[in-house]
Amino acid sequence: MLVDSFGRKITYLRLAVTDRCNLRCQYCMPAEGIKIVERKDLLTFKEMYRITRVLSELGVNKIRLTGGEPFVRKDFISFLDMLSFNDKLDEINITTNGALIAPHIPKLEQLNIKNINLSLDTLRADRFLKIKRRNLFHETYKVFENLLESSLNLKLNVVVQSGFNTDEIVDFVSLTKDKNFEVRFIEEMPFNGSGQRDMQENWDFTKILAEVQNSFENINAIATKKSATAKKFQVKNFKGTFGIIPAFTRTICNDCNRIRITATGMFKNCLFDEGVFNIRDFIRQGASDEQLKNLFINTVQKKPKNGFIAEANRLSNGVSESMWTIGG
Ligand code: SF4
Repeated sequence: MLVDSFGRKITYLRLAVTDRCNLRCQYCMPAEGIKIVERKDLLTFKEMYRITRVLSELGVNKIRLTGGEPFVRKDFISFLDMLSFNDKLDEINITTNGALIAPHIPKLEQLNIKNINLSLDTLRADRFLKIKRRNLFHETYKVFENLLESSLNLKLNVVVQSGFNTDEIVDFVSLTKDKNFEVRFIEEMPFNGSGQRDMQENWDFTKILAEVQNSFENINAIATKKSATAKKFQVKNFKGTFGIIPAFTRTICNDCNRIRITATGMFKNCLFDEGVFNIRDFIRQGASDEQLKNLFINTVQKKPKNGFIAEANRLSNGVSESMWTIGG
């Protein structure tokens, strides 16, 4: 089993399947876009499948596929098909911006994909253009409605951005009155290609919750698993729920069960470290499954207690890389 030096069991892999994306969200990358890596530097789906299988033999039973935008990668659906044969995985989840998912919804239902997290940071087309720098609000909102009607479990990811969408927090919670889905408010992080941006206000967990409490009475906290990233709530008599992820204030580290692998094979023990080992190169040098397992077991032993220590241990100054290089 993968257990770190603090006794935390590592059961959840966040795997970025590409560094390519069709949107340009301001909290993730610069407007001019990014220098993507050469295709040969990306993990192949075969390598991803092998890494996932080896990790699942060490107790990893939940995987989240991220990017960039996963559906931008050609044959992503065939990779999902491959993964669905790994019977050690209890959950296969996907985070997407929704721009390309619509034709694939029936197949995703067939493959028993557990959770779809759709990034939709605003309910306004003008804001969508400002935040994501692409004019795709109506298409994305249509996908939201299609996913609501599907058998897939839908979560809406909303990055709370000072000066951009904080006045829509109440509108998003209002959506859960008649719609059965979860809206998840995520603290903005400095993974945007240039580091912490100047923010008029710090919209952290406490401020986001206060904003909701100012507008709704009878909000009940919902019990979640210890390792859950979101603190969950429900307004009385509402069909849906809302959650808040203290991703930057990092009050969730004590029970962290997560590791990450980037699209180029960099292994991360924590979102805030700068990567501890490149699995891709190790595999391409001919490493056996046994050698891979030993590597994972030894590397996880070095997982830092929390994201603040991970950030402090960085050789480069502070966090500034773009989230598309990590996968969220
Ligand atoms: S900051 Fe690091 S240790 Fe904390 S919850 Fe996130 S990944 Fe885990």
